[in-house]
Amino acid sequence: MWLEPRDGQRFRFDAGTLCLEFLLTGCMEPWELLHAEGDLAAWIPSSRLRIEGPVVEESGDLASAKRLRAALFHLALAAADPAFPVPRAPEPESLAVLTGMAAAPPPAPTITAGRERGWAYPVTARQFMSAVARDAIGLFGGGDLSRIRICGGERCYLLFLDTSRPGTRRWCSMDRCGNRQKLRTRRKIAE
Ligand SMILES: [Zn+2]
Repeated sequence: MWLEPRDGQRFRFDAGTLCLEFLLTGCMEPWELLHAEGDLAAWIPSSRLRIEGPVVEESGDLASAKRLRAALFHLALAAADPAFPVPRAPEPESLAVLTGMAAAPPPAPTITAGRERGWAYPVTARQFMSAVARDAIGLFGGGDLSRIRICGGERCYLLFLDTSRPGTRRWCSMDRCGNRQKLRTRRKIAE
């Protein structure tokens, strides 16, 4: 997914998994993208699920999305950096949000005669959130918890699942925080 922060540097960011990608709808101010009804439906096509047809958002979905996102954020941050100083909801509450959202059916996959995969449209925002919650249950109930990381960059709070084989990914993107760190190290050596 392409991100464009306020400093204007466009860069590619791979959150590694759907539920952490969902945090890109804006966890920390001023990054909020979900302001009004319709904003969630507008964001969904940019996710890794490649939902390219119509998306239906109903009233109430926006509040649900924020609840789901907050739960994911608290759980992911606790896994990545338990000492990170933000107030957090109790873990059982966050886990209950996942269970509640996962109870709805996820988007139904389709396949054409030409073996092209897709989705049965319209996809509802609720179906999408179910897919996010199901992905999260797989992540937080599985063995990959220790691979959830927060970018090592200064004032960069992007969370991702490290899917690299050696498990050594440290940055949101080599082109952004990785490079900045390289420059800083080089400067230090030159001093
Ligand atoms: Zn970063």
